[in-house]
Amino acid sequence: MSEFHIPMSQPDITERDIEAVTRVLRSGRLSIGPCIDEFEEAVRNYVGTRYAIAVASGTAGLHLCMRAAKAEDGAEVITSPYSFIASANCILYERGRPVFVDIDEDSFNIDPDAVEAALTDRTTALLPVHVFGRSARMDRICRTADRRGLTVVEDACEAIGAEFAGRKVGTFGKAAVFAFYPNKQMTTGEGGIIVTDDPNWDRELRALRNHGRAGNEWLEHHHLGFNYRLNEMSAALGLSQISRIEDLLARRARVAETYGERLAHIAGVRVLTPTAGATRMSWFVYIVRLESGMSRDNIAARMGEMGIPTRHYFPPIHLQPFFVERYGYKRGQFPVTERVSASTLALPFHTNMPEQAVDRVCRALQTAIDEETRLSA
Ligand SMILES: *Cc1c(COP(=O)(O)O)cnc(C)c1O
Repeated sequence: MSEFHIPMSQPDITERDIEAVTRVLRSGRLSIGPCIDEFEEAVRNYVGTRYAIAVASGTAGLHLCMRAAKAEDGAEVITSPYSFIASANCILYERGRPVFVDIDEDSFNIDPDAVEAALTDRTTALLPVHVFGRSARMDRICRTADRRGLTVVEDACEAIGAEFAGRKVGTFGKAAVFAFYPNKQMTTGEGGIIVTDDPNWDRELRALRNHGRAGNEWLEHHHLGFNYRLNEMSAALGLSQISRIEDLLARRARVAETYGERLAHIAGVRVLTPTAGATRMSWFVYIVRLESGMSRDNIAARMGEMGIPTRHYFPPIHLQPFFVERYGYKRGQFPVTERVSASTLALPFHTNMPEQAVDRVCRALQTAIDEETRLSA
């Protein structure tokens, strides 16, 4: 039945990428070498920040930012329940308290009014997530933070290259984190990077990622640190990838455009479009929203039978078993998040996805929806 396999996602790896990694392997310097410095410089130039600190994963980057923001011992950090689990876990690692606020129905990002309503004397930081590569309302979020003296850390792990009001995400907060897992817009295998303009944060984050080393003494540890270093093979791959990031983003945007054209003909399906202020989207995954009344799970299962993989991005964080058990969250607490989560489906998507593959996914989606609407009629 399936004439070719359609993967959910796939990194774009060129011969030059392979050569860059191979060169590191031949050099014998596999950690703390020149590639990490060059990679950091390239990201900092691309994003437009003074500093960039490469780390072992996006999650590691978020964790270090929570440590630098002093999100410790019950300090409250306001964030989104509609995200990947790491954006809430990073707060718990420091014994801070994630305070979830509901999302805006159009952008799927935290609602600035809900942020205002959730402020308390214990609020220490705001952790907006630019979900699916579409910027949160950084104007309003930063205004709230300024007024209350709060630290803003952007979870930009899904949003490299995205812009708000013509300015790149990652330049709004005290710091921001990008991630490079293989399904992201660019990859280092595993890896992430923190960007900031603050020299004190730069110094502290560099020490924290490297066992708390601060001076030149290799065995002198000034902080309780971690080993969150990025290795040289990953940094070399990252350098090669960031050097063509605009091309990667443009090709992803083209695949998204093809999807948009095909899906315009399918009733009951809505696609992501730019929202207020989000002047440039950076395509991470391809999400569709299904009209209420259709069962997302039935449609996903039917597409699976037709050989098309899909994913449920994202189940609400507050309803993850571990959050329910430990913190007693209940269904109904964040109704917009729950409604959006129940009706969204990620379709196969990657930089080099051919038009025929997009067509096949859309045909399968049409078939699944036809069957679903017939069943529920
Ligand atoms: C990918 C991602 C991260 C970090 O993921 P790692 O796998 O640790 O690199 C964090 N937050 C969000 C929203 C993400 O999508």
